[in-house]
Amino acid sequence: LLDATGAFRSTIFDETSALAARHGAVNLGQGFPDQDGPEAMTEAAVAAIRSGQNQYTPAVGHPRLRAAVAAQQRETQGRELDPDTQVLVTCGAAEALTAALLSVVKPGDDVVVLEPYYDLYAAVVSFIGANLRPIPLRPPHFTPDPEELRQAFTPRTAAVLVNDPHNPTGTVLDAATAEIIAREALANDAVVITDEVYEHLRFDGAHTSLAAGGGRSSLDPELAAAIAQRTLVVSSASKTFRATGWRIGWLTGPRELVTGARAIKTYLTHSPAAPLQLAVAQALENPRPWVEDLAAEQGRRSALVVNALRDLGLTVADPAGSYYVVADFSPFHDRLGVRDSLELSPSLIEHTGVALLPVRAFASARNAALYDGWMRVAACKQEEVLVEAMNRLKTSL
Ligand code: PMP
Ligand code: GLN
Repeated sequence: LLDATGAFRSTIFDETSALAARHGAVNLGQGFPDQDGPEAMTEAAVAAIRSGQNQYTPAVGHPRLRAAVAAQQRETQGRELDPDTQVLVTCGAAEALTAALLSVVKPGDDVVVLEPYYDLYAAVVSFIGANLRPIPLRPPHFTPDPEELRQAFTPRTAAVLVNDPHNPTGTVLDAATAEIIAREALANDAVVITDEVYEHLRFDGAHTSLAAGGGRSSLDPELAAAIAQRTLVVSSASKTFRATGWRIGWLTGPRELVTGARAIKTYLTHSPAAPLQLAVAQALENPRPWVEDLAAEQGRRSALVVNALRDLGLTVADPAGSYYVVADFSPFHDRLGVRDSLELSPSLIEHTGVALLPVRAFASARNAALYDGWMRVAACKQEEVLVEAMNRLKTSL
């Protein structure tokens, strides 16, 4: 996160995208789609702007979008949410995560997270002056050591961050890990913050939130009910509706926790773009066939990348969701004359014309070496783009 002077540096996403653009590389680094969202959503945005929906919405978000989020969560996760008190609209999942952490975590508290993790988590925990307790998912299957995970929780643990489906590894949370997190959060009075931005990108369409209700949870019913009472769920339109540049997200959960986050969020940005909130409401109200097609298509794209990387002789972790495929590129370190995967990323851009991100950039300094060699491929592009990138790797490596 920090440069040699101790200042925050720009993110690996922005740095790699800029380098890829300078070299005309296929950018499979930063994860964003190369296609638009549903046509009707775009039309709804234009109509909202033209019909004068251009002033602030309430700070909690437009009532139509809050109602649409509550209805979507009832249908997909069996959660009963009051749209007035249990749904908060935010500027992307990024702001939802920021407000959630700022409202729950105090200076000196611990925040448990499965590692590798999305970089914003560590940045916000550091803004607060709290301590991140990263528990490594161990390659090549990217599962945690159960005992290590259990022991990370103490009475100092204010929150645990869970990202499912997972960025960067493409894995999904298994029932045993979910149970440890739920039991320990309960025993240590910690809040669970679940980042579910890839909820509709689990290839089998079977995403289940840690806060799921109505018999959908893999946890025993008593534990499921207790954990839902202490879980804040984060999601957004960025991935579900291919609108990463719209910055529309949301946070849902028990009333007291949402009220806390809402107080902070008001002073961060007040409210996101009014016409885009309405357009996302339109899309959430009409999810089919969009979300089914989205998951199936991503499954095909990720499989294409997995097969191409295995053909190169690489070890690849089987993805079950999200945008990403991770593979161990260390066999290429010597060939390209690099010492580690931080050096491999720019070298691949120059020598193969393909931008990928080192998984170790998603890890704490203490555990980064565990992930050396592993690279993340953002497989969220159109098939011909992925084929071109895989051909470039094949012919240049
Ligand atoms: N969480 C994860 C795991 C992500 O990969 C991202 C980036 N898409 C975000 C949060 C931020 O999402 P948003 O664009 O909605 O702010
Ligand atoms: N979530 C995207 C990724 O992991 C990037 C988001 C960003 O650039 N901050 O690639």
